[in-house]
Amino acid sequence: MNGYRYETHLHTSESSACGKATGAEQVHFLKAHGYQGLIVTDHFLNGNTRILKSLPWEEQIDLFCRGYEEAKKEGDKIDFDVFFGVEWNFNNDEFLLYGIDRQWLLAHPDMLSWSHTRLFEEINKIGGLMLQAHPFRIRSYVKDLRLYPYHVHGIEVTNAQNEAPYDNYARRYASYFSLAVTSGSDLHWSGEPDRGFRGISTKQRMKSVFDYVDLIRNQKEYTLITSDDDIGLEDFVQITVPVMLFDAQEQDISEKLKEIFNF
Ligand SMILES: [Zn+2]
Ligand SMILES: [Zn+2]
Repeated sequence: MNGYRYETHLHTSESSACGKATGAEQVHFLKAHGYQGLIVTDHFLNGNTRILKSLPWEEQIDLFCRGYEEAKKEGDKIDFDVFFGVEWNFNNDEFLLYGIDRQWLLAHPDMLSWSHTRLFEEINKIGGLMLQAHPFRIRSYVKDLRLYPYHVHGIEVTNAQNEAPYDNYARRYASYFSLAVTSGSDLHWSGEPDRGFRGISTKQRMKSVFDYVDLIRNQKEYTLITSDDDIGLEDFVQITVPVMLFDAQEQDISEKLKEIFNF
């Protein structure tokens, strides 16, 4: 197979409450499936985390980073790249953050109170990357969908835990706002996702997470890993929850949705 495969969206059982495999297990699993690396994006302290909120900030961050650290240790032994990321949760609208690290998290103990604008500005300022993860995910706990096209660098348009018709909405959304597109397995266990593997494939091996940031932010050459059930589908199913769209000032501009999606 040509190129280097990277998983961009992955959870570990050390940190994510829904994680079913350790960081080390994820490393061996993906290596065995032809990947060169992965980016750990555990649910942050505002998401589905195992970390107790009563602990001091520093301790919460240390525990949050454990899945990544265990994966990194294991990856180093077998020439497999492991990078750090975060899956941030606002209101079940979730964002993948890259280019930040433990030190940066430690230095911002007030971050859980940040708005979309503030988070995007902070990530942008340090040359990081902020993507909206699976923007059209319908689950029982999702009461509405919130879209912030002015507060992201790109959109995860194919996610192995999302049904294809919802990914089609994500593609149309990204294309309307000319946003970069990414792919992620959202891997929670060391097993093949029901809808096949995701991630990206690159011409060059990445040296750090900033190589990934650069690829996406500067629209360099990379290929989305996807599966047959996701290619060429034109299905659009009915979205059963309210969808909201926000502008750069976080004002509701949902009336524009008609123009984008016919609803
Ligand atoms: Zn999860
Ligand atoms: Zn996830």
